[in-house]
This record gives sequence, C-alpha cells and structure tokens, in this order.
Amino acid sequence: MKTSGRAAKPEAAVARTPALRPIAFGRRASSGVRGSLLGPWKSLGPQDRGSTLPRLVGRNKKAPRTAPSAPQTSIRAGLGNDLHRLVAGRKLVLGGVRIPFEKGPAGHSDGDALAHAVCDALLGAAALGDIGRHFPNTSPRWRGASSLLFLQRVCKLLKDAGYAIANVDATVGLERPRLSPHIPRMQKKLALALGLNPSQISVKAKTGEGVDAVGRGEAVQADAVALIVKKSRVESQESKVKNSKH
Ligand code: MG
Repeated sequence: MKTSGRAAKPEAAVARTPALRPIAFGRRASSGVRGSLLGPWKSLGPQDRGSTLPRLVGRNKKAPRTAPSAPQTSIRAGLGNDLHRLVAGRKLVLGGVRIPFEKGPAGHSDGDALAHAVCDALLGAAALGDIGRHFPNTSPRWRGASSLLFLQRVCKLLKDAGYAIANVDATVGLERPRLSPHIPRMQKKLALALGLNPSQISVKAKTGEGVDAVGRGEAVQADAVALIVKKSRVESQESKVKNSKH
C-alpha cells in the first residue's frame, strides 16, 4: 500500500541510528581516533550503547588557573529594591515628592524607598556596592537627609567611574494613597537629581491587592532597574552622529 510522506523507520533501524557527540581531541578521545579534529560531531560507536547524552571529550577539562580578564562590555544593567515600614508621624516621600498621607516610612533618612531602589540599581550596574555602604544608617550625617542627595552623590560616583545613565525604570508598591497623580513630579525630581531628562525615568505604581505587608498598608516597596553606558562609547556614538551631519 502506498503511503504519503516519509515512511517511519522500523524499530531495529532506529536502534542502529548512531547518536552524536562533540569534538574529540588528542589522547583522551575514547573513540579510537586520536590527535585530530574530527569535526563538530562524531557518531558514537557500539561501545557507547547505553549512553543517553552526548559526552564531552577533550584535553581542556581543567578549569583555567587564572581568572579570565573582565569583558569590555560597555552597557551594564543594575537592579535595586527597597522596603520601609509605614508608621504614623512620618512624612511620606517618594521620588523626592511629599505625598499627603497619615503615615510615612520609618527610616534613618527620609525613607524614600523609590530613591533608595534607584540608588541601588545604579550602584549595582556599576558594581559600586550598595546604598548602605555609601550612606550608612549609623551615620548622623544622613539622619533625616533627603534621599535626592543620595541620588546626586551616586550620579557623581558613576560619572567618576566613567558611566553615563541611559535610563531608569521603577515600580512602587503602595496600597494607599493613589500615586498616579504624583508620578510626573517624581520623574522630574529624580531626573533633576541624576542630571537626566524626565523621559529617561519611568515610574510606575501598583497596589498590593490586600496581600503581604504592602497590601495590608504596612509598608511601601520599590523596585528599580537601571542601564548605564561607558562614556567612551556614548562619546564615540555622539561624534559619529556629528560627523554624519557634516
Ligand atoms: Mg531604604
């Protein structure tokens, strides 16, 4: 009977179909072919029956003795997160904006969770530690300080390390009050502190859906990611654009 398409192989033929394994080099090659590059894949022989996975063979099994040099990656990402308990008698400040509410974040500084998360994202992107290292909550210098000051200092640290900030994206978790009317001002304040255009800053707000500390109205939380670029790369791209205009 004629069938359409490719006929299925009989079981015995499938069992004989050789599996594949990677390149084999030198003396450790166990398939009997030594000292030569066999090509990207080599068929397994009958001695390899029972093996279900390709087996890597080669002389470079040992880990390198020295750490590899740092890659010259000029675009880097960072992640920041912060959470503060909400308590009576404290001002609620987010992204440098004072928001009328009966409670505010407990903290050594102004407790601006959004600014703190952004600081950590930027510091993390540049591998410069975290906010606690640069602005310890044991120092009287930072007691009651505006967290916008932290952002300014973090911006300077990044600049000194040769980085420019490409963009920041953040999400604030707060059950009450509604933050959406305040978001444009937060973007402006954060951008001003970081020497950026407000279009480089994104702030979003979410409630906690009644779940966990945020949902019960006991805490404010913020998450942020930041992208930074080595200045040499930025400058070379700017000069390319300039040259192309002439
Ligand atoms: Mg904090």
